[in-house]
Amino acid sequence: MTNNMKAIVLLSGGLDSSLALKMIADQGIETVALHFVSSFCRCDGSKGCGSSARKISDFVGVGLKIIHLKEEYLDIIKNPKHGYGKNLNPCIDCRILKFTRAREIMEDEGASFVVTGEVLGQRPMSQHRRAMSLIEKESGLTDLIVRPLCAKVMEPALPEREGWVEREKFLDLTGRNRTPQIKLAKDFGIKDYPCPAGGCLLTDPLFAKRLRDLMTRGVFDLANVELLKVGRHFRISPFFKVIVGRNEKENEQLSALKEESDIIFYPEEEVAGPTAIGRGQGTEEDVLLAAGIMARYTDAESEEVKVQIETGADSKTVTVQKKDDAFLDEIRI
Ligand code: SF4
Repeated sequence: MTNNMKAIVLLSGGLDSSLALKMIADQGIETVALHFVSSFCRCDGSKGCGSSARKISDFVGVGLKIIHLKEEYLDIIKNPKHGYGKNLNPCIDCRILKFTRAREIMEDEGASFVVTGEVLGQRPMSQHRRAMSLIEKESGLTDLIVRPLCAKVMEPALPEREGWVEREKFLDLTGRNRTPQIKLAKDFGIKDYPCPAGGCLLTDPLFAKRLRDLMTRGVFDLANVELLKVGRHFRISPFFKVIVGRNEKENEQLSALKEESDIIFYPEEEVAGPTAIGRGQGTEEDVLLAAGIMARYTDAESEEVKVQIETGADSKTVTVQKKDDAFLDEIRI
């Protein structure tokens, strides 16, 4: 009864979607897991994109597809049809985009339905009944989404009515209490799942502030978004900003993210200090100001610091005064 069916499971790698994956695969349904990554994921990429999704799909024994969301994702962040959550998180549009991709992959793969780890009432913006049905409708998946964790408090979808899945094995979870999921994970032998992170970087107020700055300056692209994750950022003019590394790792990251048109700042050799990058169109005065900001974070004892400035193939050394913290706080983004 439940065989010869194929399903696409949206797998974040967190607890709920991992349980949904296991519950569907255990019904003997051919399953493909789908994991989305974007510049706004919270992982630092050190274990490879989607490492927790890879771990759980291997554990369950199903194939995994990793989908990278790029420019199309920036478009919905700039202009979300259904608005933002508390910060710059366009959760409803984000889920419509992911579910639409899932539907396309479902069609390409010859699968019949999509499975999610959603729990009714768990997330304020996107997991209440009205939002769930809106997302279903706008992604072309009406009646084709199976939610094993909360199926019994929802209207049965087509795969449940038709007996493509065994609805009686599904659950009736609602709200934010995660005790039942933790127990179920134990029963399934699922370990080491990541803690619920509370959303992507778009939900982080400090990151959102930096992102808003990019959007208002008209330089909202993937390369500039990557740079937002590193260092201290200071807005020097509407057209120019400086980013200062906070430690050795960030100094290396800044060097790796440097573009040809960027200006790079180092302390003179005998003084320890950070790397900084100036990005945009800066006047000579702006560049000296950026050098003074970088100088503040050197170990130089004197208030006057020699800074090396590299612009393309040109290099020069200037002596600047360290900028004070009150000034830095004013222009920090
Ligand atoms: S928290 Fe981020 S990834 Fe999650 S639905 Fe909202 S915008 Fe999308």
